[in-house]
Amino acid sequence: MKAIRIHEHGGYDVLKIDEILMPTIEPNEVLISVEAAALNHLDLWVRKGIPGVPLPQIMGSEASGVVVEVGEVAHDRYHFEKGDEVFTVPIRTCGHCFYCLSGQENLCYEFAIPGETIEGVQAEYVAVPADFVFKKPANLSWEEAAAFPLAGMTAYHMLSTKAQVRPEHWVLIYGASSGVGSSAIQIAKAFGASVITTAGNEEKAAMALKLGADHVIRYDRQPIGQTVKEITNGEGVDIVIEHTGESTWADTLRAVRRGGKIVTCGATTGPNVRIDLRALFIKQQQIIGSTMGTRRDLIDLVALIEREKFKPIISKVFPYEQVEEAHRFLEEGKAFGKVVLKF
Ligand SMILES: [Zn+2]
Repeated sequence: MKAIRIHEHGGYDVLKIDEILMPTIEPNEVLISVEAAALNHLDLWVRKGIPGVPLPQIMGSEASGVVVEVGEVAHDRYHFEKGDEVFTVPIRTCGHCFYCLSGQENLCYEFAIPGETIEGVQAEYVAVPADFVFKKPANLSWEEAAAFPLAGMTAYHMLSTKAQVRPEHWVLIYGASSGVGSSAIQIAKAFGASVITTAGNEEKAAMALKLGADHVIRYDRQPIGQTVKEITNGEGVDIVIEHTGESTWADTLRAVRRGGKIVTCGATTGPNVRIDLRALFIKQQQIIGSTMGTRRDLIDLVALIEREKFKPIISKVFPYEQVEEAHRFLEEGKAFGKVVLKF
């Protein structure tokens, strides 16, 4: 079977389409014939080189497809059958540590993301433990089902579990066109909150409004912090969904209101920020770290999808043979929403 692998870190040319052996399944696993697999920014970092990536590595964190073989336990206890249409959960956890048993599996000591520290899913066939396979919502295409889990559960966890978003809240969401941004806009609106987001050109701003954002700040021509203050009558927002880091940190501090929360899941422009602790405690603000999400978040997200309150946004679909072009497209920032490979 074919799989997208890297044997070394580097540019687009390290992405290889290799012929490798079909995976064999354990009793608790299902074998999935992959229809579609999504790209994430994580794919770019893994390709270029981050610590902990074993080589050679199969790329990719999330996929959709058809179950073609079912282990005995996956059948008897998890009720999977051949022919089931499914998508894969973009995390693997131990299932028995304190965090797993208390529903906080994104804190698991053995937390891993496929395509990073363990084998990925950008291949014609993947063997996946039944714990990490969900039935595909009927109203999603293969491409959509592959595209939403990682960014969607990240955004859902930040807004719901961490920030406890409510209808009265104003939320600032950075990067409307990113996977997390486009997911967070829809989730915040599903909770009834008011959304301010940011976009770098007219086309992306229009898309953000279409997704339900109440205000779009053109960060290429408007100061973010000051504009947020103007929109919110000088108060600022209750929640900032932050994944940009250093370059926008001053705006983030300016934008958040008294008692507000900054939830961060990334630092794309750099990890080192300054904070005046006196302002933090006097204004009683919170800075909260968040990574990925839980099975519970994914269940809630699927419910929003089935009620048509959340739609995965696909920017472009490439045949898997064109994985180099797909990486380039994602890296150049042209995408609004997700980049997906079709198998
Ligand atoms: Zn665990």
